[in-house]
Amino acid sequence: MVAPPGAGKGTQAARLAEHFGIAHIASGDLLRSEVAAGTALGREAAAYLDRGDLVPDRVVLDMLVGRVAQAADAGGFILDGFPRTLAQAQAAYELAQPRDIALDAVIALEVPPEELWARMSARAAAEGRADDTQAVFEHRLAIYDEQTKPLLNFYDERGLLQKVDGARSVDEVFADIVGVLEDLSVS
Ligand code: ADP
Repeated sequence: MVAPPGAGKGTQAARLAEHFGIAHIASGDLLRSEVAAGTALGREAAAYLDRGDLVPDRVVLDMLVGRVAQAADAGGFILDGFPRTLAQAQAAYELAQPRDIALDAVIALEVPPEELWARMSARAAAEGRADDTQAVFEHRLAIYDEQTKPLLNFYDERGLLQKVDGARSVDEVFADIVGVLEDLSVS
């Protein structure tokens, strides 16, 4: 899933994983657990997370490669928050190809910026995440535009991109994504 911060990709990814009985691999959640557990990886990632900057590709790839391979063997996965840069997408492809792991679809959730901030401020109140302040949110949105948005073209050119209107209720968005995946017969 590719979407700007606050678009609801975490919520949708969790529901989709449950619905299809596959793994939900959320890079942001995994990074926050590493930080909370005080691991070497977490210590390296913490400052990037707090600033809303991207954690270096190498750190993210080290954390994810084994998990994705294991989930692929066990029946499949939803990637939430990864890849986030073209370099990550390229590295993921090079690691996945020899292992016979491929993406079936890339779901892009589309939500207008004013709606994104409304959702993020609600999440900030509910969860108290350090990167949910307005300044950090704006920085994350700028990073999304610069670094992650180019992935949409990258996957569109490969025939994988499916755009879904994310500015609706959780249930409507979920039904739409399931419909898209069923039409592709990937489910
Ligand atoms: P959201 O769902 O709100 O976009 P995430 O929980 O996916 O937020 O990510 C939170 C933070 O974790 C990012 O701002 C970034 O610092 C870090 N992060 C998550 N995934 C990646 C990734 N693939 N590459 C680099 N940094 C990442």
